[in-house]
Amino acid sequence: MQHSESFPSPVDIAIVGGGASGVLLAAQLVRKSHLRVALIERDAHPGLGVAYSTHCLGHLLNVRASDMTALVDEPDHFVRWLARDGRGFGPTDFVPRAIYGQYLQDLLADAVQRSDGRLQVIRGNVVAIRHERDGVELDIEDHPPLRARKAVLATGHRPPSKDAGAYHGNPWRDEAIAGLASDASVLLIGTSLTMIDVLVSLLEHGHKGPIVALSRRGLVPNRHPPAPIPTPEADTSDLFVGSLSQRTARFRAMLRAGLGWPGLMQLLRPHNNELWHGLDLDQRKRFLRHLRPWWDIHRHRVAPHIGEQIDAARASGQLSIVSGRIEIGRTTEEKVEVTITRRGSDVREHRHFDRVVDCRGPRNEVDVHVPLHAQLVKDGKLRPDPLNQGLDVAPDEALIGRDGTPSDRLFVLGPPTRGRYTEIVAIPDIRLQAADVANGLIAALQQPSGLVHAPAA
Ligand SMILES: Cc1cc2nc3c(=O)[nH]c(=O)nc-3n(C[C@H](O)[C@H](O)[C@H](O)COP(=O)(O)OP(=O)(O)OC[C@H]3O[C@@H](n4cnc5c(N)ncnc54)[C@H](O)[C@@H]3O)c2cc1C
Repeated sequence: MQHSESFPSPVDIAIVGGGASGVLLAAQLVRKSHLRVALIERDAHPGLGVAYSTHCLGHLLNVRASDMTALVDEPDHFVRWLARDGRGFGPTDFVPRAIYGQYLQDLLADAVQRSDGRLQVIRGNVVAIRHERDGVELDIEDHPPLRARKAVLATGHRPPSKDAGAYHGNPWRDEAIAGLASDASVLLIGTSLTMIDVLVSLLEHGHKGPIVALSRRGLVPNRHPPAPIPTPEADTSDLFVGSLSQRTARFRAMLRAGLGWPGLMQLLRPHNNELWHGLDLDQRKRFLRHLRPWWDIHRHRVAPHIGEQIDAARASGQLSIVSGRIEIGRTTEEKVEVTITRRGSDVREHRHFDRVVDCRGPRNEVDVHVPLHAQLVKDGKLRPDPLNQGLDVAPDEALIGRDGTPSDRLFVLGPPTRGRYTEIVAIPDIRLQAADVANGLIAALQQPSGLVHAPAA
């Protein structure tokens, strides 16, 4: 994918971030409107973002291909792309994420071509978005300012922590496991999907040394059933009323009645946000603290083949899953000192590992060390959501400022809206949100604006 050489200004919509979310939105806007759009991505490879920039073919999608279309109104778009691609993947397969990345890049290239110059991809890091009389002005490092009528933050995920010697806070970079002796001892902090990614990479690199994966509860994601299951028929209306504990009790009763986690999750999936919105703030906090870990291991499952790899690593004794707490001690380039207190014990075990990788998963909350966040917070245009999971947004994804007023020109897409939606990480959720945001922007921009477009070159 070529970045644009010429610099368009003004545009109708500036999308900040060219990961999956930004690309899904750009594709919608190009297909549904004649608006001028700039997609600004700081990375050299727009379209991939964190999830799809992996080169490891063992990193599989955790959703079957049939549900991974990027376009809401073309349910078989990805499956048709796979058929054309000719590598033999079908609708029920869990495809390598690297291949999904190629699909997203093709989607972006197609959008650029269809747009006939209306969609431009700019390589750059957006460090500020200031309000102007009729729109916004974006500061992009090493570029002149870009004016736009509206801007959408599709800035996605940040790594769990910072690197320090043999401690790696960014589990998605190749460096996290690079240069390790094959018998080295490794500690993975976290036992969910990110841990599984790093584990799979280690095994693919022929790692033979001991691997400890640790989290507070030691819960590991379940695997998908070997074949798709039909969605069960059951009346779930009781789960939408009452307190969190009443709902949890009814949920357990449905499980006991034989519905099973996969079926129940499938049944509830289209209604997850309704469930979430039915809880008050206190109940949401309690859900995140006490129930979320269980919800996640059933809701975000791994491909059956990945489940088999985890079982084999545990059975051979190479992988130990520990529930407990850790404190990180002295860290050098070669070793990390760690104190582990197992759940239910007071004994503090002092251990050394050759490598520690923080696999606690992506962060999306407001962080004033991010220049764009710092500037928007300072200007009063951005605030954390009440659960401090991401950015505070209104029902139409408008960014809510310090005084509680939703912006008429700044919007947010994807995982940073998780405080409002909680389940807004996977493609099936993001593609719906991208279509909604596109429709809202297109409707709003049919209003005349004070900005005058530069004549075409
Ligand atoms: C490891 C992993 C595996 C996943 N697997 C699956 C799966 O199998 N199936 C599924 O449905 N979902 C999966 N997901 C979820 C999902 O698809 C992602 O959450 C989704 O890709 C989010 O994309 P994004 O564009 O919002 O964020 P990101 O991927 O984080 O992309 C954001 C982009 O914005 C850019 N950016 C950020 N700030 C700026 C700035 N100031 N200026 C310019 N550019 C900026 C970044 O460089 C980045 O490229 C996975 C997620 C992860 C992390």
